[in-house]
Amino acid sequence: MKLYFILSAFVFIAALTNPEYSYSEFSGIYADTTLKCPVTGDEISGEHVSFRYIDKEIKFCNDGCAMAYKKDPAKYSEHVKCMPCNEDDANHKINTTHNGVKYYFCGNGCKGKFDKDPEAYIQQYSK
Ligand SMILES: [Zn+2]
Ligand SMILES: [Zn+2]
Repeated sequence: MKLYFILSAFVFIAALTNPEYSYSEFSGIYADTTLKCPVTGDEISGEHVSFRYIDKEIKFCNDGCAMAYKKDPAKYSEHVKCMPCNEDDANHKINTTHNGVKYYFCGNGCKGKFDKDPEAYIQQYSK
């Protein structure tokens, strides 16, 4: 009986500390907001850093947060755009990194189009 209690307490703690669990909680609260830093969840006020990712201007507390975002934007926004087809349904597993920024695509066809001329797509969405 005592062993059962210890085991169930362990499972409970494991559920609380499971990083995947806390990750989904986090993205649910802070997804696609521009008022809070998407990385830390802190409110942005006064001095900040901003970075345009595809067609969205995103504000961060500082360069450190912007760097973290560039490396893995899908970690902080649930929906990321596939630039060649202009749909917010990119597959997080199909990606490429250009100038230190990660971009996502709906499929390998779109990834191939982007890889041929990344700047053309970035320019298209920077207007
Ligand atoms: Zn931040
Ligand atoms: Zn696509």
